[in-house]
Amino acid sequence: MLTDKELDNFIICKKCNTLHKKIPLHQGGKALCSKCNTFIYKRDNNMLEKSLALVVTALISLSVAFTFTIITININGLSKSLSLLSLFDVLLEHHQYIVGIMFLFLTVLFPFMMLSSMFFVLFFIKIEKYGYAIKRLLILLSHIQHWNMLDIFFISLLVAMVKLFDYAKIEFGVSFLALLLTLILELMVTKNINFDTLWQKYNNIYGEDNDR
Ligand SMILES: [Zn+2]
Repeated sequence: MLTDKELDNFIICKKCNTLHKKIPLHQGGKALCSKCNTFIYKRDNNMLEKSLALVVTALISLSVAFTFTIITININGLSKSLSLLSLFDVLLEHHQYIVGIMFLFLTVLFPFMMLSSMFFVLFFIKIEKYGYAIKRLLILLSHIQHWNMLDIFFISLLVAMVKLFDYAKIEFGVSFLALLLTLILELMVTKNINFDTLWQKYNNIYGEDNDR
């Protein structure tokens, strides 16, 4: 039987399930599967710092997206400015409570929770402190990252606007750009962050028997 430590030296290709032994890479190097050529892991010494910078910027632009006007709709001289949070009020006014709560969770709470949990994980690993919190937050992240539906909301918003274009004048607000920026930054974070490396760093700092 292999111990956990020895198992850490192996990695499975996510596409074809071939088992590979990990080898040390040079900075910027990438390891590909020998069978199907799928990307398996890379070495990026600046992953932590880069991800931290991206997450902080994403948090700022998400806060901007929540604060200001997202679109202004003008129909026959009647104009209404909507912010992300006022959309929630509109849903409640029309007694769409379940949709309202879902909207609040999927497009406001989860994206915010995801980014702030990422920030604390990266920050705590950076300062090499609060191992227990790192572990809890990494587990939390694995659950909530699928529930962040900001991208779906953005696409629905675009579809709704295209439908309104015929009979309404629509102006984009600051929040619209901030939302777009947040989505791009989130994509960059997801591409840059490597959870295996984060777990490995956690193990290196706190040791395997420190997991309670
Ligand atoms: Zn493969």
